Amino acid sequence: MKRFFAAALFIGLCMALCACGSGQVRQIQRADTAMGTVIQQKLYTVSDTDDAAEEIDALLRELESGELSWRLETSEVYRINASAGAEEGVSVSESFAALLERCLEISGDAGDAFDVTLGPVVRLWDLDSWASGERTGEFVPPDGQALEEALARCGSGRLRLDGENGRLYLPEGMSLDLGAVGKGIALDRILEYLQEQDEITGATVSVGGSVLTYGEKPDGAPWRVGIVNPQKTSENMGILSLEGQWCVSTSGDYERYVEADGVRYHHIIDPVTGYPADSGVAGVTVLTKDGFLSDALSTACFILGSERGMKLAETYGAEVLFVEKDGSITMSEGMRAVYTESLYTESH
Ligand code: AMP
Ligand code: MG
Repeated sequence: MKRFFAAALFIGLCMALCACGSGQVRQIQRADTAMGTVIQQKLYTVSDTDDAAEEIDALLRELESGELSWRLETSEVYRINASAGAEEGVSVSESFAALLERCLEISGDAGDAFDVTLGPVVRLWDLDSWASGERTGEFVPPDGQALEEALARCGSGRLRLDGENGRLYLPEGMSLDLGAVGKGIALDRILEYLQEQDEITGATVSVGGSVLTYGEKPDGAPWRVGIVNPQKTSENMGILSLEGQWCVSTSGDYERYVEADGVRYHHIIDPVTGYPADSGVAGVTVLTKDGFLSDALSTACFILGSERGMKLAETYGAEVLFVEKDGSITMSEGMRAVYTESLYTESH
């Protein structure tokens, strides 16, 4: 009996010490804007400061201003775009060259439906400004000739990347727009950061339509990521239940758009026509371990439609879910395993 009490006392002491040593897991919640979108963080940490949330915000602002923004003169993309037409090309960082190479690979596999050189066409539509309310008044779609001219300045096949020497040659009039992958790249950077922070035990961070899940919830329950109903965007049509680390990206015709004369002009452009893609799809969600890939594939799959998009996702081992304009759903097998139809509106 004595031995039993001694053992129980010893175990009790160990547990108390563990609890003191590791501290209590606490939740940090934060909403902010960066990269032209809303950032929502939920971090589970044993630290008693909110430093991690601030550092993640700072990291995203740096990604935008130092690398990806086409608007800010401080960014690498801005510097590259300013070099279009220069015979000597422009120097690019190793990480940017690697990123661009991945974009070009996806363009090749997506039969050119995905194209980060669409800058001239995307600028002409300027749908981000209309959707955000920055531009107001009567929306008039660009005229056919202006679109033709802008399209003629695009095409991934026309740029030359010399990765070995870190140089990129953009033809005159071309400009890069990394809007299709920026949020996914952000998730990859956040993941790298989280992996270095021992005090963070779990997290979900959403950057616009892309969500990162990481680690565990304190109660061990799976992460819950909602799939928005494109026909009623205040509701989810389903929930993904995910264990551990994942990246979930969604592209939808309801995310950024303007309506004129009963037509919805959204922000995902078909490089063949120069017009907003009309593949019958209203929303696509891609699930992978890699943020860049989930974001790139969700955009590409939206343009390709469910049949061709499903094949593309399969090539990359990604899970995918298509919501057609009539509300019907098609999904890959792995997606079905984590999807539950649901009317809940709350995620994470
Ligand atoms: P996402 O919301 O991730 O689907 O990305 C849409 C954004 O990608 C747009 O706002 C544009 O900046 C850019 N984009 C539009 N069409 C394409 C396309 N066909 N290929 C690559 N990027 C595109
Ligand atoms: Mg995307």
